Amino acid sequence: MSRPVMVKKMHNYNETTSADLSQWPKDQVRIVFDGDGVLFSDEAECIYREKGLEVFQQFEQEKKHIALPEGPLHAFAFKLQKVREALGKENAWRVRTFLVTARNGVANERAFKTLQNWGLEIDETHFLGGLDKTPFLIAIDPAIFFDDSSDHINRAKQYVPAAHIVYGIQNVKPSNIAAELAPVRLVLNKEMKNTTSP
Ligand SMILES: [Mg+2]
Repeated sequence: MSRPVMVKKMHNYNETTSADLSQWPKDQVRIVFDGDGVLFSDEAECIYREKGLEVFQQFEQEKKHIALPEGPLHAFAFKLQKVREALGKENAWRVRTFLVTARNGVANERAFKTLQNWGLEIDETHFLGGLDKTPFLIAIDPAIFFDDSSDHINRAKQYVPAAHIVYGIQNVKPSNIAAELAPVRLVLNKEMKNTTSP
């Protein structure tokens, strides 16, 4: 999901770069995925857009035992996993994967559950809430970062290779958002009625 981002003004990201980069092994390929709208579908993002943070968190809490639907890079992430398996235990370090998402709090549990249900291994998961992803990405120094939010991509691409995943509600023109969210509204209204019924 995409939240209003807290960006530190006048922060020079380059100051934090060089010390952190040396931590990584030479010849390691690091790949960073966003969660909602990239590994996962935009289902949760639609609910957040339609009903706000509180309903989103309630929804994720209620569905925490149900895996999220697959997103556009689900298949690619599994291909990477196959590559790591083919490299064998001794060389699996050569590919390191990351989930860097705006989720936090109660919404984390569903993300973990989803990865577990899918059987997808991610080396590091970072739940950032509303924090700017860029300083974390600089520290990770990825070969590529995937995100469906053009805001996240535009900030990050000045420092790391970044690919905009043009998918889901994040990438719908403002004039078409109401129509895109109409089915979500129907489902939510039905679910909320069921929840509040005696
Ligand atoms: Mg996203």
